[in-house]
Amino acid sequence: MKQLTQIKQAPQPHWVGDGFPVRSLISIEGDARRTSPFLMLDYAGPHEFAPASAPRGVGGHPHRGFETVTIAYQGEVAHRDSSGNHGLIRPGDVQWMTAASGVLHDEFHSEEFTRKGGTFEMVQLWVNLPARDKMSAPRYQTLLDAQIPAVTLPNDAGRLRVIAGEYERARGPALTHTPLNVWDVRLNASHSATFALPQEWTTVLVVLHGEIELDGRKLGASDAAHFSRDGDSVSVRATEDTMALLLSGEPIDEPIAHYGPFVMNTNQEIREAIEDFNHGRFGKLAA
Ligand code: MN
Repeated sequence: MKQLTQIKQAPQPHWVGDGFPVRSLISIEGDARRTSPFLMLDYAGPHEFAPASAPRGVGGHPHRGFETVTIAYQGEVAHRDSSGNHGLIRPGDVQWMTAASGVLHDEFHSEEFTRKGGTFEMVQLWVNLPARDKMSAPRYQTLLDAQIPAVTLPNDAGRLRVIAGEYERARGPALTHTPLNVWDVRLNASHSATFALPQEWTTVLVVLHGEIELDGRKLGASDAAHFSRDGDSVSVRATEDTMALLLSGEPIDEPIAHYGPFVMNTNQEIREAIEDFNHGRFGKLAA
């Protein structure tokens, strides 16, 4: 059994652009060594947006050295990037964008969601890349709801969607650069579940809604549980209907240098990223 090492309480929310009211449940400054390969997890909403005429969101900005994974629960995001990819992320869908050597992109509420308004709820997870892949070509994976296998948990405990990695014999559609699991877990109130996980892997459980009990302690919405790398399973009991993300992965044991949207291994590589951005070497967004 993996030991619970820390419960991190929900931090104060902040806005990313004018579209994403987020709480950073994993933070790159405080957690990144311990939570490797996961760098950051921002949970947006649930937040009610009134109908509007101009889409809210974040305008063109770069990324280099890692992957951004956007998981949509409610509402819709429209995005486009400098490698020519664009699309809509709808509830149940996931966008797995490998920035690697660098992209520019923007992220806005979709036209339709903007016009109608409604409840918005998303997660953006940042996954680190090993040094060997940080300057490789960008890649873009649209993972539609229908492609993501959903498995029923034993004893009617709930269900689990395999976004990346595998659970039992179900394989998630995401291609990853290091071995990892991203599981979207729904637990039924008053039910327990045990998840087998590899020895030596990082494991973080993030509660989005509901409440679970773990080791005699309670975790509510926006709390994150960190576990020891040794041990081979995690057991939880839901006291309410609960929506959570269970993240696990092989740690990338390399130095992390971080500045804003760039995550590299050395400060020199960060300076190069800033210089490349300032010289327009991240490409252009279509007008
Ligand atoms: Mn971005």
